[in-house]
Amino acid sequence: MNKSISVGILGGGQLGMMLCQASSNINIKTHIYCPDRDSPAQLYSDYFTCMDYLNENEIIKFSNSVDIITYEFENIPKETLELIDSKKLRPGIKSLEQTQDRLTERRLLQKLDIPCAQYIELKNEEDFKYSISNFGESIIKTRRFGYDGKGQTSINKNTNIDNDISLLFNEAIIEKKIPFEFEFSQVSCRDTYGNISHFPLTRNVHENHILKHSYAPLKLDNDLEKYSKEITKKILIELGHIGVLTVEFFKAGEDIIVNEIAPRVHNSGHWTIEGCSESQFKIHMQAVSGIKIKQPNLLYECHMENLIGSEINSWINKQSDNEVNVHLYHKKEVKKGRKMGHLTYTKDVEDS
Ligand code: ATP
Ligand code: MG
Repeated sequence: MNKSISVGILGGGQLGMMLCQASSNINIKTHIYCPDRDSPAQLYSDYFTCMDYLNENEIIKFSNSVDIITYEFENIPKETLELIDSKKLRPGIKSLEQTQDRLTERRLLQKLDIPCAQYIELKNEEDFKYSISNFGESIIKTRRFGYDGKGQTSINKNTNIDNDISLLFNEAIIEKKIPFEFEFSQVSCRDTYGNISHFPLTRNVHENHILKHSYAPLKLDNDLEKYSKEITKKILIELGHIGVLTVEFFKAGEDIIVNEIAPRVHNSGHWTIEGCSESQFKIHMQAVSGIKIKQPNLLYECHMENLIGSEINSWINKQSDNEVNVHLYHKKEVKKGRKMGHLTYTKDVEDS
């Protein structure tokens, strides 16, 4: 029997949890490293280190103890990355560096000739004035550490610059608000042999800036579907990315526009656990472990619904049945806006 590969995962939230769940069936041992004692992922991992990301000794020990290191979130401190063996890190440092900062990410898209919303770097009051007179309705987005819409402020021509905005000089971009028809995402994966697998497209609906529903597969005009896969492939290759990567898109008029790149498994891919022959979590773990990945086939049409904050209360004692697949994240504290679990409803694929 082959020796199992051990994969260290930086981060211990629900994405880490589902990576661990997928690993147990494919002979991959997991080691979660995160500072949160109540981490959902440690309930399913083989090993757990509960330490700060900046604890030098522990990070080095962790790095030495595993074959490969992957991550479930992109905001890993630079100091941590400097301590770990870069040869073991998959996806590699380039994927993180290019996507941790929205400005760098925008420049990458421009370099690759990939359409994104008009934007300007917010450096001073002139930039602010330029954006409100040229873009109209816009959004200030912090360059780093944004998630679930945190770090975003809507502005328009009537907004006056205030202290909160000037504090963001050199820390944010301003982006034109896109009157999109809908949002969708492409979850794809690249392995160490250069194979790329694409999941079907997913349509995403946000409520209060947080993903609430995903519907898959999204049926998009053939050319646009091909184009979204081409865009994602271009990004995967440019980054030399190994593992899953997700591209969020807006469909606006006849065009598609990239909103964001996530160099990891993604909430909009949770439905693949039930809906596809290979889940995003399984092929990510295989790809980073040097195992050749397969092209996932669609098994069911799916609707994924996030359980946010107190919505979890009606599901806490429920189990999956023929109607619905229940995924609980076992988080101790229910907080407003916190992702506490998700549901996936499946139905047979309709012939098109
Ligand atoms: P998440 O963690 O959900 O990916 P985030 O905080 O990283 O969110 P974005 O993905 O950039 O931030 O934005 C969150 C949501 O805000 C988008 O999914 C979209 O609904 C809306 N949004 C962001 N940018 C724009 C834009 N330029 N025009 C219109 N809506 C936007
Ligand atoms: Mg987003």
